[in-house]
Amino acid sequence: MGLIRLLILAALVYLVWRFAKRLLAATNGGDDQRPARSAEPRGETMIRCQQCGLHVPEREAFKHRGLGFCSQEHQRQYLEHHEP
Ligand SMILES: [Zn+2]
Repeated sequence: MGLIRLLILAALVYLVWRFAKRLLAATNGGDDQRPARSAEPRGETMIRCQQCGLHVPEREAFKHRGLGFCSQEHQRQYLEHHEP
């Protein structure tokens, strides 16, 4: 039954090796590998205009206190009606 013991040993060594490698990668983490997860996602965030309901890309939207607008005009119109 020497072969089975050898196989089990090999499996154990393999698992330990895998575990150690993962541990090493975790402690080594991030610097020279791929950039952090904070990088911009591919899909662009769409913001809904509070005045007309149009969806515009976040970088083109006009924002005011957490509200999004498709244009400065709509921002102005919205604020005229909703703020004293
Ligand atoms: Zn609008």
